[in-house]
Amino acid sequence: MPQVLHPDWKPAPYWWDAMPPQPAATALPQAVDVAVIGGGYCGLHAARTLAANGRSVVVLDAREPGYGASSRNHGMLSGGLKVPAGLDARLGKEWADEVRRTAFESYAFVKDLIADNALDVDFAETGRFIGAHCPKAYQALKARRDYLESAYGYHVRMVPREAQRAEVGSDFYYGGLVIEEVAGMHPAKLHSEVRRLAETAGALVCGNAEVQAIEGQKGAFTVRTVRGTVHAEEVFLATNAYTRTFNATVFPYVRDRLVPVTAYMAATEELPLDLAERLLPTNRMCGDTKRSLYAFRLSPDKRRIVFAGRAKFRDIGEAEATPILHRFMCDVWPELADVKVTHCWKGNVAFTFDHVPHLGVENGVHYAAGCQGNGVAVMSYLGHQAALKILSGSKHQCGHDGIGFPTRPTYDGRPWFLPAIGAYYKTRDAVDRRLAH
Ligand SMILES: Cc1cc2nc3c(=O)[nH]c(=O)nc-3n(C[C@H](O)[C@H](O)[C@H](O)COP(=O)(O)OP(=O)(O)OC[C@H]3O[C@@H](n4cnc5c(N)ncnc54)[C@H](O)[C@@H]3O)c2cc1C
Repeated sequence: MPQVLHPDWKPAPYWWDAMPPQPAATALPQAVDVAVIGGGYCGLHAARTLAANGRSVVVLDAREPGYGASSRNHGMLSGGLKVPAGLDARLGKEWADEVRRTAFESYAFVKDLIADNALDVDFAETGRFIGAHCPKAYQALKARRDYLESAYGYHVRMVPREAQRAEVGSDFYYGGLVIEEVAGMHPAKLHSEVRRLAETAGALVCGNAEVQAIEGQKGAFTVRTVRGTVHAEEVFLATNAYTRTFNATVFPYVRDRLVPVTAYMAATEELPLDLAERLLPTNRMCGDTKRSLYAFRLSPDKRRIVFAGRAKFRDIGEAEATPILHRFMCDVWPELADVKVTHCWKGNVAFTFDHVPHLGVENGVHYAAGCQGNGVAVMSYLGHQAALKILSGSKHQCGHDGIGFPTRPTYDGRPWFLPAIGAYYKTRDAVDRRLAH
């Protein structure tokens, strides 16, 4: 076992120590108004809104609900930060404004939900620091600041390299950007609380109910699962980056438009308090400008570093990923060389070919998918929006309506090209840094 692995190391999310995915052994109903496939934030928010408006709803998840990205993520809540700046040219100003508005509203949607229901999710509006990996990237961040200020009215400021130790106790970056409208929370606790709200509203949540086929049409669907069949008037597909994980044939339309990418995460052992405070003095959610980016934060109790990075651009085991992530941490903080890693885990992130999340209807089935690794707020909000569409007989409009959902010829949801893209990203990042020295 490599030295960096703590004796208690486990290949499971750190978040599951406090909140493991809960079983949902409820018997399947024979018939419902709406069957929701996928029990992450997106499916649960849809279910909650539908049930609160009097619809009978079942949520079907292949594993325990929360098995997917919703209990594995980094725990950063933000709206709109990854909406691409070139959107106006591609979609036209009017559509682009609608997409931006959706992203913006999604942050308040989740933040208000947490406050209004006093959800116990370790929420803290910490803000976000984005480190520049080279001087050129620092200059580019100024354009991002201007964009975030003008498009969203966010409070954003540049942090020059001389001042960055106030944000990150490291000289790795060439200055950075602080965005105040970003929060941290405990992702698995958030999932558990949203599930509680959905169940309280009347939704049935069923685990170990992998869907194998959707047959029929609007008003008369048959959803076949490994546990039996459910008849539903409407179906909402919320399987996102896990669309091809369990059963690749359920809904090829969405499968063929998503690029699932494995993201790797690790948590350190408990650090001495003064060290943790020195590494991240402002307790912000952090990221950087590298194409193969690092993201990091303190755990909610401020005792550990929780770190995300592309250990590889292909699927590897957690034991292999751990020393790579530890090396990434030491790039930022060389003083972590002797610190051990207690948890390492991975999860799927769904990219789209146009870098925009999508909400729509295909063959009568509603779907929402593709959040480029930034979906805690957006996928929650799109789940709610999909429910409003179903409730209104598709009269409700959302910013994502009618945007074409692109794919590529012969692509079937298996991103064979990722290792090549990853190698290119890592080379470009390394060249940027070498030129900066
Ligand atoms: C490591 C990592 C870090 C991330 N960090 C952040 C972050 O800090 N901030 C942020 O905003 N976003 C982050 N994200 C993205 C965010 O977690 C996701 O966008 C969000 O959780 C997506 O929620 P969802 O409900 O759409 O999908 P998921 O939570 O993935 O749920 C999909 C569900 O569908 C189920 N499913 C799949 N196929 C079937 C089937 N055939 N039958 C039944 N069920 C099925 C799966 O079991 C799964 O539970 C991160 C993601 C990862 C993986």
